[in-house]
Amino acid sequence: MTEPGSSSSLTHPVTGLAFPSPVPPGTGWPGDRASADTPVAASAVDVRRLAGRDGDLAELDAAVSLCRACPRLVDWREKVARQKRLSFVEEPYWGRPIPGWGSTHPRVLVVGLAPAAHGGNRTGRIFTGDRSGDWLFGALKRAGLAQLPGSEHAGDGQRLLGTRIVAAVRCAPPDNRPSPSERDTCAGWLDAELRLVLPTVRVVVCLGLFAWDATLRALARTGFVVPRPRPTFGHGARVDLAPPRPPPTSGHVPRADLAPRAGETVRPYGLPADPLVVLGCYHPSQQNTFTGRLTARMLDQVVGEAARLGLPGATR
Ligand code: SF4
Repeated sequence: MTEPGSSSSLTHPVTGLAFPSPVPPGTGWPGDRASADTPVAASAVDVRRLAGRDGDLAELDAAVSLCRACPRLVDWREKVARQKRLSFVEEPYWGRPIPGWGSTHPRVLVVGLAPAAHGGNRTGRIFTGDRSGDWLFGALKRAGLAQLPGSEHAGDGQRLLGTRIVAAVRCAPPDNRPSPSERDTCAGWLDAELRLVLPTVRVVVCLGLFAWDATLRALARTGFVVPRPRPTFGHGARVDLAPPRPPPTSGHVPRADLAPRAGETVRPYGLPADPLVVLGCYHPSQQNTFTGRLTARMLDQVVGEAARLGLPGATR
């Protein structure tokens, strides 16, 4: 990183608009759903309260993107945004939590660990602007789940097809290591996102052990029966989960924006009626890709399997 810099405005590489770092809400950053009126979570209790509201994905994304519940991570993400890495010193840094991104009715859900300090924390979009993203989006494109083979900046025209990507922890952590309490605090956002997208999701791809554990914990809280002890993570590991049983309530009115696609069945209270497949995949971190622990072929095998299971009729 360079010496501590100022928060003076710099030009976004796609839009040409100027932003300070971190980026204030509602100032025109591509994909920013927050505004000056968006509520800000300042504690774990706030996260649970705001994540538990009845709202849609846009409202959830907005609230996530302003969260300040983990003081250590807030300090780190904003410090990185102000100081920057030398190679990006002319760019504004988002410096805020990274919401989920992609389809609002996904069939495939990809769960990562956390944003990269100079990737998502800079670009404001998950797996965007770093080497891990190059690997992931290359595989998604080859499997027919992304429009473009790379993801450089928010607003670059990239589009996910029937797919959504989320991080288990939404802020960039020092050394890519969130603490257990930070993981648990951020789990409120993950749970809320799962509640909104699970009615259509058929496959979840977990990138790495951290995402695997966080996802299975979240699915258990959502109502899926997750085997105990928790299934072991590995590259290509697969767990098939039966759909949750309906709660002992009746008369719930399904949300209009969670309407099923043609041919899909959705339980009246909004939980999926179909089984869910959870796949394990080594994280496309440089630590794994540089050492050959994860090859492009290995990544293609898991992402391709997710595409076949999640979008069996899609043209690839
Ligand atoms: Fe909020 Fe999650 Fe970031 Fe913690 S890690 S500040 S809970 S968005």
